[in-house]
Amino acid sequence: MKELGIGIIGTGFMGKAHAFAYRAALAAFPDIPVPRLEMIADVDAASAAKAAHQYGFARSSGNWKDMIADPKIDVISITTPNTLHKDMALAAIAAGKHVHCEKPLSPSLGESLEMVEAAEKRGVNTQVGFNYIKNPLLKLAREMVEAGELGEITGFRGIHAEDYMHDPEGPWTWRIDPSGGPGVIADLGSHIIGMARFLLGEIAEVSADVRTVVKSRPVARGAAERKDVLVDDVARILVNFGRGCGGTIEANWIATGRKMQLGFELTGAKGSLVFTQERLNELLFYKAGQDPRTSGYTKIEAGPQHYPYGQFCVAGGHELGFNDLKTIEMGEFLSAIGKGQTSGPGFREAYEIQKVVEAAIDSSKARNWVKVA
Ligand code: NAD
Repeated sequence: MKELGIGIIGTGFMGKAHAFAYRAALAAFPDIPVPRLEMIADVDAASAAKAAHQYGFARSSGNWKDMIADPKIDVISITTPNTLHKDMALAAIAAGKHVHCEKPLSPSLGESLEMVEAAEKRGVNTQVGFNYIKNPLLKLAREMVEAGELGEITGFRGIHAEDYMHDPEGPWTWRIDPSGGPGVIADLGSHIIGMARFLLGEIAEVSADVRTVVKSRPVARGAAERKDVLVDDVARILVNFGRGCGGTIEANWIATGRKMQLGFELTGAKGSLVFTQERLNELLFYKAGQDPRTSGYTKIEAGPQHYPYGQFCVAGGHELGFNDLKTIEMGEFLSAIGKGQTSGPGFREAYEIQKVVEAAIDSSKARNWVKVA
């Protein structure tokens, strides 16, 4: 069976998640090319060496460029801060590697377009880390929308709120360095905008309020010196979808108490769906027209009837987790490479999501509706 040599750049939160996923992908999806864990790199060479030992990679490096010329590596995962994505991706693409890059694709639309065009010209596969839509219940939700089970869609209320930036004494990190692009609207907003597009298709226009709430942060935890924050903490966006319905989307990283409120309420003439990542194995379905005495939301529980849940566990109710979604993502990516097909969302879709982000920022500045170009 075909093998694919894997390289991961970065050993932080996402580096570990990618490593878990590549290790588990074959166990879940037996027909994919065998992922061969070749090299993990980090600017911190000791951390790379430790990660190679822990995750079972053959080699480690303190210099990501070592991966680019390595003929044993076919696929590169980029899990570094956003400012670094473009150079790493362009180098990998030029060397003919398939690239998985974490979201957001890059700090700006122009840079992302460069990445899209380079990948399409070179004919390599790309994938971007929109892991949450890999949930089998989200696929079910999309199928229900497409099959007309909810009737004409009348509205979408989406949110991605967490609280990892709520403390004004929380120090400066790469996430708020403006050279990395916008703030929460790109960091979390890209997930919920991507989810909205996955379920309902293109967003045609937006009217947004995008604001910075914590105006300055210490340069390091406990430091007296502070730096002005130039990126957004909260984005509230009115959206109109190309299909005709309207909705709202919020991205918020100062939502004190919230750890993973990524979800939506989707209403249609014949029914509604409610989802939150906090209970990712449940999808609530309300079907209109039932006996009013007994009608209400039905809880659909994830089980082996929702492919690919059964690839992980034969029994319903045992539940998938975040790393399983990442494994589905990698399984689809490697499978597509093996078959010479494309998976998704790739660079092109990440670019389309970024267009919505940029339109919302423009709208907030102009205090006006803006078309998503
Ligand atoms: P992190 O800070 O935990 O890890 C970043 C890693 O990159 C660190 O190990 C750091 O040492 C390494 N690094 C920095 N500069 C480097 C260089 N020049 N060469 C090699 N390695 C270098 O960050 P994270 O939370 O893992 O985020 C990384 C990316 O993943 C970001 O783009 C972020 O938006 C994205 N992300 C995605 C999700 C998701 O759900 N898909 C969740 C969190 C983060």
